Parts: sequence; structure tokens; C-alpha cells
Amino acid sequence: MNIEIPQKFDALINQAQQVATQVFRPISRKYDGAEHEYPVELDMLASIMDGMNDGDLSGGAGAATLKQNGNSEATGEIKNGSNMATVLGLIELCWGDVGLALSLPRQGLGNAAIAAVANKHQLERYKNTWAAMAITEPDAGSDSASISTTATKDGDEYIINGEKIFITAGGRCDAIVVWATLNKSLGRPAIKSFIVEKNTPGMELVRLDKKLGIKVSDTATIRFNNCRIPKDNLLGNPEIDIQKGFGGVMQTFDNTRPVVAAMAVGLARASIELTQELLKQSGITANYADPINNSLASEAELYRMEADLEAARLLTLKAAWMADNGQPNSKEASMAKAKAGRTANFVTLKCAELCSTIGYSESHLLEKWARDSKILDIFEGTQQIQQLIIARRMLNKNSSELK
Ligand SMILES: Cc1cc2nc3c(=O)[nH]c(=O)nc-3n(C[C@H](O)[C@H](O)[C@H](O)COP(=O)(O)OP(=O)(O)OC[C@H]3O[C@@H](n4cnc5c(N)ncnc54)[C@H](O)[C@@H]3O)c2cc1C
Repeated sequence: MNIEIPQKFDALINQAQQVATQVFRPISRKYDGAEHEYPVELDMLASIMDGMNDGDLSGGAGAATLKQNGNSEATGEIKNGSNMATVLGLIELCWGDVGLALSLPRQGLGNAAIAAVANKHQLERYKNTWAAMAITEPDAGSDSASISTTATKDGDEYIINGEKIFITAGGRCDAIVVWATLNKSLGRPAIKSFIVEKNTPGMELVRLDKKLGIKVSDTATIRFNNCRIPKDNLLGNPEIDIQKGFGGVMQTFDNTRPVVAAMAVGLARASIELTQELLKQSGITANYADPINNSLASEAELYRMEADLEAARLLTLKAAWMADNGQPNSKEASMAKAKAGRTANFVTLKCAELCSTIGYSESHLLEKWARDSKILDIFEGTQQIQQLIIARRMLNKNSSELK
């Protein structure tokens, strides 16, 4: 077993770390206090990232670089490709600021959705599009199979009707990947994803939501009222394949869950590092040579957090590695997301606690990170839903047998 990061990713990791340190951190607090204000500093950065993405494997850190699982045929050759590059880059970027990483133009979760299910023409057509992803509805969150938004075929078009809530980058993006059903009575296999471009008549931005954390990221409610889109905007196979069930659209999560796990790893690492620094200023330095029985309580907390972080990091790398190598990774993607989300929540709060007044005050970013981290255990499937998926896979049960 070799779990070293291949050298070819060094440049990417360094670049992402520079962006995190020099661009994100200095503006982090400013945009935390200016919810929904667009961080103009990201425009210049976005073009640099586009350039990095064009470099394919060695390139960008955003979700736009993800590729479909199974793209790499089983040649026996081990690959570390775009999924690995994306998680490694995002760990660094989110060490800087999660909300800013989520606000990077053209690196949205919708881009990962396109990468997961689009055909060749669509991949080319939407190459430079900033895409958000809209699954959640007022009456359908965790149970994404119960969505009510409809897509009705009418000649060469689909007509979309319904309401989507909590769409990350929903106000700023160029297009939205919308999950809708072709026929609700046919259940999961009838759910498809559709690209709806901004300013399509019938698509209305209802509001932007105020939140606990990641305030710089815009979160939108969007209504579709007889919104007509070309039939080619359906991503993937238009047929309702009863055998395949939910498979098509669900592939998105196999790509995006390791990405969210990577965000959590970056944020948890940032919190631990700053806490170590602050404790050091108070004369507390972790001494790894001492037996645990002789450690201070605060040192023991640090060791536990470091161990959890490393476990989350390795699970994240494994899920991304499997995606790069065409191996089915649903269980591992959920394991990574569950462990990393839980770890980030625990670590960021614990760090605020260990640093007490400094941890709670706005003089440092620890309190902000504790707020930012909560979302990482909610979107792309909550902690409970990840555990449910893992249990189903391990017990070989389907979604109606284990709910
Ligand atoms: C800031 C933010 C950004 C978001 N961005 C997006 C986005 O870009 N696109 C998008 O589509 N959605 C997005 N979401 C929505 C997010 O994915 C949902 O909030 C999430 O899936 C949970 O759905 P829900 O809020 O309806 O909670 P519910 O599904 O109502 O769940 C409520 C609670 O019950 C638990 N629960 C539910 N079912 C079970 C079960 N079977 N067993 C055990 N426990 C269960 C859940 O874990 C949760 O704790 C975003 C949300 C937020 C807050």
C-alpha cells in the first residue's frame, strides 16, 4: 500500500494553498459580514483556474474538472486523475475559506453533475458554464426520490414546473442543473436532470436565503413556471430505464460527495493548525513523544482531532481514487462524506472551545469556521443519510428494505 500523494500534484497543491493564503484568508471576514455580496476578487482567480482546468489531470482544483466514474477503462493501470486533483485542490482552498471556494465561478456542484451524467456534446457545450445544482424542494430534501418538479415533453422541448430551494450559487450561476420527474407515478427511474440556462422565460429567482455560515455563498430559491427548454438539455439518457432505477442521476453523488468531504478536511485542518498555534502562545505544545497518560487534557484533545482528521482525509482520497479508476465508489463516497462532515463539525467546535474567549470572538476565524462547518454535514446528503447508504450497501439491502 502506498498512500503518498503523487508528485505530479505538488504544483496544484501549492497553487491552491497560495490562493487560500493570499486571496481567500485576507477577505474571509469581510464577506462573512456582507452576506450575498459578490466577491469580485474571485473574477481574476476564476480565469486563472480555467487555465489550470484546461491542463486536465495536472490542472484545476474545482468541481469542473471531475470526470465520469468508469471513464477510465479497467486497463490495470493505476490512475490518479481529475477526481484526485479536485479533492486535493479543494482541501487547500477550503483551508482558506469554504464559502469562497463554493463561490468560484464555473466550479459549481452543477458542473460536477454535468461531468457525471452528460454526453460528449453536452460536455463540450457546457464546458465554460457555471452550473448550480437544484435537487431540494420545499417537500423533498433527504428523500430526493420524492421530488415533485415535473418535466413534460412537448415536441422538441421540455416544460419544467416546480420550486427548488437552497440552491448554492443559484443567483450567480449561468445555468442550473434541475432534477425533475418525467412521470411521478414511475418513481425513481423517471427522475432526470435538465440544464436550465439563466434568463430562460418562466424561471424566477424568488429570494436569497440568510444563513448560519458560508455567508459569502449565495443560496437561492428558484421557481419554474412553464419554463421551456430544448429537449437536448436533458442530461444523459432520456429513456425511463426501470432496471437502472435511480442510477443515472445518483452517479452525481459518487463524484460530489468526496468533493464535499475534501472541503470538510480542509476546514478541519485549518482549525487544528490555528488552535495549535494559539495554544503554543499560551505555552501548550503537543509533545508526541510523551505517553498519552502524561499529556495535558488539551494535548489529548489535539491528538484525537488529528487522528480523526487523518482518517477522514484517507477515506476522501480513497473515494476519489476509486472514481478515477472506474471503480464503483458509492459506499466509499458516503463513508468519506460521513466521516469528514462529522469530523469538521466536531473539530471546529472543539477548537473554539479549547481557545475559549479567543475561539468565540471575531478576533480570529475559529468562530466563523465553527459556523461554516455545519453545512458540510448537511448538503449532498446529511450525516444520517450517508450512514443509511453505507448500511444498505453493507447489508445488501435496497432503499425500500432499509429506510
Ligand atoms: C447552505 C445550504 C446549501 C445547500 N445547497 C444545495 C444545493 O446546491 N442544491 C440542492 O439541491 N440542495 C442544497 N441544499 C439542501 C440540502 O441538500 C438539504 O438541506 C439536505 O439534503 C437535507 O434536506 P432537508 O433540509 O429537507 O432535511 P430533511 O430531509 O427534512 O431532514 C431533516 C433531518 O432528518 C434526518 N433524516 C431524514 N431522513 C432520514 C432517515 N431516513 N433516517 C434518519 N434520519 C433522517 C436528516 O438527516 C436531517 O437531520 C443546501 C442546504 C443548505 C442549508
